[in-house]
Amino acid sequence: AIQLNGLSKTFADGTVAVHDLNLTVDNGEFLVLLGPSGCGKSTVLRMIAGLEQPTAGEVLLDGEPVTDVHPSERQIAMIFQNYALYPHMTAGENIGFPLRLRKHERAEVDARVAHLATILDITDTLARRPGRLSGGQRQRVAMGRALARRPRVFLMDEPLSNIDSGLRAQLRAEISALVRELNVTTVYVTHDQTEALTMADRVAVLRHGALQDVGTPNEIYHHPATAYVAAFLGTPR
Ligand code: ATP
Ligand code: MG
Repeated sequence: AIQLNGLSKTFADGTVAVHDLNLTVDNGEFLVLLGPSGCGKSTVLRMIAGLEQPTAGEVLLDGEPVTDVHPSERQIAMIFQNYALYPHMTAGENIGFPLRLRKHERAEVDARVAHLATILDITDTLARRPGRLSGGQRQRVAMGRALARRPRVFLMDEPLSNIDSGLRAQLRAEISALVRELNVTTVYVTHDQTEALTMADRVAVLRHGALQDVGTPNEIYHHPATAYVAAFLGTPR
């Protein structure tokens, strides 16, 4: 599980990005962190990944402070909207790269790539380089590469914001299915209410760095904790 205890971040210039955030993400859970631009979503993700130091509070992964674990041992995968694939490698080589780097057996790498490609529905494009893939295919390859090492925690920062709207709905469903099949604890950041309500086990709504509400999509939509949450989700009243 991921535990955020009084997590806070004030930047050197005085900007309060995250304020006293308390939240637990259970093992295998798909949590969506939802809120408008600038509310602190990416800063929270970066602190979970151990890439940004909190000014107060802590992040625990299965009870252990994330910053106590060496970066290479953290078993955390993260993807962003502007994913970068290795242009000179095929899609399949991109997915297998983190494993080859760590000297996994060739047969094991091939099996793992084939399994991920099946779940991601990109088996037919594995031999192509990124330059010859669509945006949606590239994003799937990026996810496959992020998941190749079987991380315990999967962090996604607005992964669909550069994908056109027609494909977005399909990828939403695919990502949900993927993380549930792999049973990886997931935090997914978005400012898109529809994404949050359709993909999440639970949604946490953030405003000015503070938690407004957390619950299942049903709970927060039908029983929003604050007027702000109701307005943001478009709950009819
Ligand atoms: P978006 O949806 O636009 O990506 P966000 O919710 O991810 O926004 P953050 O990037 O976490 O928001 O930023 C939260 C706040 O902290 C914003 O006010 C931002 O301007 C500020 N901020 C982010 N990084 C820094 C930094 N390095 N120094 C100072 N302020 C920062
Ligand atoms: Mg952001």
